[in-house]
Amino acid sequence: MAQQADTLRIARAESADALLAPLFFLSSDALRGRLIGTPEIDTAAGYIASQFKRAGAKMVPGADGYYQNFSYQFQRLSQVVRMEPQLFERVSFIRPTRLKNVLAYVSGTDPVLCRQYIVLSAHYDHIGVADSALFENGKRDSIFNGARDNAAGTAAVIAAARYFVRHPPRRSVLFICYTGEEEGLIGSNYFATHPLVPLEHIVYDLNVDNASYNTTEAICIFGRDRTSEDSIMQRACRAYGLEALEDPTGGAESLFERSDNVSLAKWGVPAPTYSMGMTDWDDGITNRYHRVSDEADDIDKDYVVKFIRTYILMAQGIADDPKQPRWARGDFFEEFWETLYHRSAK
Ligand SMILES: [Zn+2]
Repeated sequence: MAQQADTLRIARAESADALLAPLFFLSSDALRGRLIGTPEIDTAAGYIASQFKRAGAKMVPGADGYYQNFSYQFQRLSQVVRMEPQLFERVSFIRPTRLKNVLAYVSGTDPVLCRQYIVLSAHYDHIGVADSALFENGKRDSIFNGARDNAAGTAAVIAAARYFVRHPPRRSVLFICYTGEEEGLIGSNYFATHPLVPLEHIVYDLNVDNASYNTTEAICIFGRDRTSEDSIMQRACRAYGLEALEDPTGGAESLFERSDNVSLAKWGVPAPTYSMGMTDWDDGITNRYHRVSDEADDIDKDYVVKFIRTYILMAQGIADDPKQPRWARGDFFEEFWETLYHRSAK
């Protein structure tokens, strides 16, 4: 019953169009693929900050407004050149690059649990523009719009911020849009090593990132069964008629290790990645992942709306969970968890 009331409240909070607006803006051609070091990624960051501000989410003490600014010095070219054909543009990264994470928070309602934070994170950067046009999906194009990867995830975090400001859960919630994920989780690693909230106060990270999707009947959660929140996550999916899948490749694509969740996980914070439905890493995924055809115009809007609302419901369940989240018994990260929170997992 309680869950039904929540889904109704989430549905009434925002129209489908309002939920999708950040996805369409961030993946528009004007933002030219949100590559680090370009003016367009700063436009993206400014937009996210303005969304946080308009929502009424608070600035994190110690941040520069809604930004965590830092400078990053790439050590070698191979660190930035992970895929052709952007070699030329990436050579400039050998100089120090100015980067920014965008973040905000909302205080929890419980007098004790409000000292603990749930992080809702997504990277907002992508891989820019190809040197020459590519022919994909029936047209010539050179902009890697990154609608699924990861304008959709950024839209989910923005929607969560709007919702939780109006309906705060028991724990506090920290919203972080990371930069530099595509060059090797740079923004999330910077946050993890320069956390503006002490790491031991961060008890969970529900990260969002996407390659693409090949089913609209499911959500994938990489690391779903590795934390104590599995049943809460499955229940949230069921409320929207969605199946909650683990990594369908069984670890072959290292989907758990490939996104920003790992930056906090390696310090002990339970941190899975929430992702669009994938039954396998097939051609449907390959043909969109880091391709110029990852555009918003042919995305399944009803599915993305469900994807965002499920994310909010799931985050609420975790933020309200009376028990502190933990890694599953015997998990690789369990001893890091014990160290971080000064607790025995036994
Ligand atoms: Zn991504």
